[in-house]
Amino acid sequence: MGLVCEISGLSHSFNHLLEAIEDYNRQLEELSSNDPLTRLNNRWKFEQSINAQIQFAGRHGAPFSMLVFDLDHFGYINDVHGHPMGDLVLKEVAHVLRNGVRSQDIIARIGEDEFAVILPDTALQEGQVMADALCRAIAGMEFQTTKGPLRVTASMGVVSYPMHGRTSESLSITGDVAITKAKALGRNRAVTVDSAEVKDATRIHGRDVWLRKAIAEERVLLYAQPIVNVRANRMFACEVLTRIQDGDRLLSADHFVPDLERHGRIEDLDRFVLEQALDHKRRIASLAGVKLFINLSAVTIENHEFMENLPALLRSQQTPPGEVVIEITEREALRQLSKLSGLIRELREEGILFALDDFGSGFNSFLYLKYFPVDFVKIEGSFVQHIAHNRRDRLIVEHIHQVAQALGVKTIAERVEDENTHDLVRALSIELAQGYYYEAPTPLQDVGHSAFFDTVSSRLLGRTGTDNGRF
Ligand code: C2E
Ligand code: CA
Repeated sequence: MGLVCEISGLSHSFNHLLEAIEDYNRQLEELSSNDPLTRLNNRWKFEQSINAQIQFAGRHGAPFSMLVFDLDHFGYINDVHGHPMGDLVLKEVAHVLRNGVRSQDIIARIGEDEFAVILPDTALQEGQVMADALCRAIAGMEFQTTKGPLRVTASMGVVSYPMHGRTSESLSITGDVAITKAKALGRNRAVTVDSAEVKDATRIHGRDVWLRKAIAEERVLLYAQPIVNVRANRMFACEVLTRIQDGDRLLSADHFVPDLERHGRIEDLDRFVLEQALDHKRRIASLAGVKLFINLSAVTIENHEFMENLPALLRSQQTPPGEVVIEITEREALRQLSKLSGLIRELREEGILFALDDFGSGFNSFLYLKYFPVDFVKIEGSFVQHIAHNRRDRLIVEHIHQVAQALGVKTIAERVEDENTHDLVRALSIELAQGYYYEAPTPLQDVGHSAFFDTVSSRLLGRTGTDNGRF
């Protein structure tokens, strides 16, 4: 009897333990698949659901649609009204979604203010109707705040399987493109994309993956080209130029920079190059004291957070600010010139130097010179290249130099390829120059090796023999 009692007691405890474990597993499952704030599915669960949906749709030939959106100016709501208000908005959006969709639809919060809805068995047109209704419902919410009533809107993308993609990755890429389009059209709307836009997005994504892979596999290489002082016959600085090893080809920046810029994807590269350049400079003793000219594209320069962080980045890499010159190119037009000029002014007060690159190549050169308080103007190489035999080019170069000089800005002649051009640059009293005549771009880690100095010096010193050609 005692033994039976004991066994029954044990089995009771055992069952209790099993229940506790099951309960714990349920909680774990819920935690790993739910967003704690809104109780909607989280990103992980969403990925699972979309993959299951793709499999099902593939087997049964049934299309489905997906809505993805983020809230317009959500950062502003958090900043101005505080995080509790931001959280309330997110919870209310979740509530609107729950009320607005059918029981079979799957709703998820996939980022801070990003949501997605999977609509099984739903064609694009039907998906668009639901998306429009959800956008209206979100815009219809009103929140009372101490600063008055607050409304939110959403920019929504509507995509459909298999028309917009056959994998969760391709569907989310086209979804993002649709969101961007909705924002560009004025926000507070739901839009889809056509096949040309899908093709474009896939190509851009391919570029992104290519760049990320090249960075991860350490195939993005930093080269440097000397900028020389032709009056003092010495090297003055180096411009950092990027190369990417692609199979057995070493691609120069011309092969990938304009494309990355056109698609607004240059920032990752710029950030990587700047950080690497500073890291090299700190680690390679011979680079101490060497000014590095770094190219930043318009998109990067327009990222205020990135630019404002420059002094801290230089400090963390122990780089004196006066040893970094940011080159502003004109390939892509800069917006908000007066705001940017304020930022440049602040950074210059911290000691960072600025140069206008390819000066004369675009329509905005003189506008930039008017707005931006820069230290250097780099005269577009295609003018400099021919000054020895083209009078017009010579006049243009002379004119740019005079204007810059009058404004107290130093000029650098780009693309000096031969002795005649070098002589003319000197004759025009342009102090700084760069080009194949002095040295081609060389791996950054080789800069400072005596062989590198020797090659440059021999060209400069062949005529005077008075300086050691060092920085
Ligand atoms: P850039 O700033 O005008 O740089 C000079 C370009 O001319 C370089 O091409 C360089 O290799 C080439 N070059 C130098 N000396 C001579 C010469 O004497 N004659 C001729 N014909 N060419 C010469 P690269 O490296 O292909 O760079 C192309 C452009 O890509 C650069 O033009 C620069 O604006 C941009 N770039 C390079 N690296 C980066 C980067 O990391 N980020 C960004 N945003 N842009 C970059
Ligand atoms: Ca440049």
